Amino acid sequence: MIKLSSKNPLNVRMAPTLGAQIAARILPGTAIVADKIVEGDDFRGNPHWYQIDGSQQAASALTPFKNGNAAQNPLFVWAGGLEFVDAIAPAISPATSTNTQQRPDGTIKPLDVTGLQSVFGTFNYTEGTSGSIQIDSAWIHSNIVAYSHAAVNKNRPFDVHQKAKAYFDLVFNEIQAQGLQDGILEFGGCWVPRHICHDPAKALSSHSWGVAVDLNVSWNGYGRQPAPAGSIGSVLELVPIFNKYGFAWGGHFGGKSIDPMHFELALLHIP
Ligand SMILES: [Zn+2]
Repeated sequence: MIKLSSKNPLNVRMAPTLGAQIAARILPGTAIVADKIVEGDDFRGNPHWYQIDGSQQAASALTPFKNGNAAQNPLFVWAGGLEFVDAIAPAISPATSTNTQQRPDGTIKPLDVTGLQSVFGTFNYTEGTSGSIQIDSAWIHSNIVAYSHAAVNKNRPFDVHQKAKAYFDLVFNEIQAQGLQDGILEFGGCWVPRHICHDPAKALSSHSWGVAVDLNVSWNGYGRQPAPAGSIGSVLELVPIFNKYGFAWGGHFGGKSIDPMHFELALLHIP
């Protein structure tokens, strides 16, 4: 679920088409919540529309238009008119909720190095060049496996932790089921044994365990705000899906550490 707002009055329609009946309007400065993006009429080169549930909006969010019913479901808003405000904590299942740590706002916290070690194992390593590390080959042999999925990296295999495989399947299967796979334009890597930011002074990155993926790097650089909802390269529609299965999102990392391309498995226990 993401929170969006508009700088200009925006029509909320009965269908994702420019001619569809207007049910309500979003006035500047008010925020709405959405959890689904669909394809509809192309406007200014952007064919994406947010599907919203009128009954789930804050009372002041939608202003009824003429005789329109602002509380109905579904309703549609052209994505190009909306700006990303925040990714709201998704309605994660009780199982995921009790198996992850959350911040006060409900977003999922990543595991620290101790947590990563306890869930995915401890390895010996030597320092490499430019913040990379070389992991003991016996650990690699027993933990890192090839993985592929049609929704990511053009179905080409990449290396992941064997315990993470089933969770990547859950995420990418759902991304496909929701028709969002075409929004994954770049795969920036998963298992990359290294320190955070390739800085030897920093802790080991979760990429060292093969439990994190970087997506759409070009539009979601480290330390930068995520690409806006509805724009090319945006990963915002993927956040609720990753969260649902226990992945933390780098877009929820605070301040300068924000890393919107990054999703990492954060379950406290994996059988
Ligand atoms: Zn990453």
